[in-house]
Amino acid sequence: MLCAQCDETARGCCRFCGRAVCSSHQQPLPYIIGLFAADPTKAIVVGGALWCGACRPQPEPIAMPELR
Ligand SMILES: [Zn+2]
Ligand SMILES: [Zn+2]
Repeated sequence: MLCAQCDETARGCCRFCGRAVCSSHQQPLPYIIGLFAADPTKAIVVGGALWCGACRPQPEPIAMPELR
């Protein structure tokens, strides 16, 4: 598997979009693994998740009322 940005051997896959990335292109980014229905809403976040640096994870969860 090769890095999506430079074709070096990839170290892992982006936690957000699934692109393969090498050690020089991977970046840490907090990853939200769950939400508590509290007031205000609280999130369980994993710091330093593998991020490819190319995709754009949204900082806030997006409301999807149609899935209710
Ligand atoms: Zn790379
Ligand atoms: Zn990505």
